[in-house]
Amino acid sequence: MPSRRRSARSPTSRPAPGAELRLGIDLGATNVRAVLVDVHGRIRAHSGRHALPDRSVATALSTVERVARGLLAPADLPRAPLGISVAAQVDPDRGRVVHAPNLRWRDVPFGGRLARRLERPVRLVNDARAATFAEWQFGAGRGCADVFGLQLGTGVGGSAVVGGRLLEGGRHAAGEVGHLTIVAGGRPCTCPNRGCFEAYVGGWAIAERAHEAASAQPHAARALLARSGRRPGLTAEAVFDLARSGNPFARNLVRETESYFAAGVVSIANAFNPTRMVLGGGLAAGWPGVVAVARRAIRTRCQPPAARVRVFRAQLGDLAPAVGAAALAGDGSG
Ligand SMILES: [Zn+2]
Repeated sequence: MPSRRRSARSPTSRPAPGAELRLGIDLGATNVRAVLVDVHGRIRAHSGRHALPDRSVATALSTVERVARGLLAPADLPRAPLGISVAAQVDPDRGRVVHAPNLRWRDVPFGGRLARRLERPVRLVNDARAATFAEWQFGAGRGCADVFGLQLGTGVGGSAVVGGRLLEGGRHAAGEVGHLTIVAGGRPCTCPNRGCFEAYVGGWAIAERAHEAASAQPHAARALLARSGRRPGLTAEAVFDLARSGNPFARNLVRETESYFAAGVVSIANAFNPTRMVLGGGLAAGWPGVVAVARRAIRTRCQPPAARVRVFRAQLGDLAPAVGAAALAGDGSG
């Protein structure tokens, strides 16, 4: 059943009626979270996490509507715009989710349906783009006109702010660096290509590589297998956790991952020439060396204009996509 937990919404943060607030919702594969943010990106109220019991469009619509109403009603915000971030290719002009692999949706007019239900404008945005926008406006990229946001999680997403504008692209997918080729003819990806950045450093790919290595070296992998229960249960998080404790098998997997990560980061820095690169996402949060590896690779392997790119961890945590979607809902750019 969906959670109805509301304790996370502090009564002291309840916004004043009529304040200039925007609603941001992060629609994930398994849960929905919502925030009300002000024009400075401050979270004035949030919903907590509401589980999605299935991946149907109907369930997502009803859950998002309920979560949105839960935040909007006490704040008395009849006109507040709504932004919704989805791990998907989206068409914001038509309000459609074009392809959401995690939700298994194709060409769903989610934005339009939600706008009718909630009687307010709704803007769809890809989650990596939303997180980058949030970090640029309010977080680790604040004050810079050229920022690249790299999101490391189950997949790898990215988005670029160039000259003070979020780069859009012909089909709203500019900066999708997860599918940069880093190994010609390499590992199969979830896309039609092989050897993609994501196919080596995405959480799913690290787990897959760990599974293969454990099958080849079950004795060396025994600590990881013991932690994970069984091979299909191997996760990137377990690999990083065990590497931190010094386990040689896990450390070797992390070293390999860092080598692939460095290759991708160098290409991104050369291609986009940002002033700052911001590393976010759940995988980055549990990866102690991620910033140091990126800095060293950029300093030693990029062409001179890109070798000066500065690298930082994201500052806004896992609510960045919801904050960014809210900000974009009231913004003319991106
Ligand atoms: Zn790919």
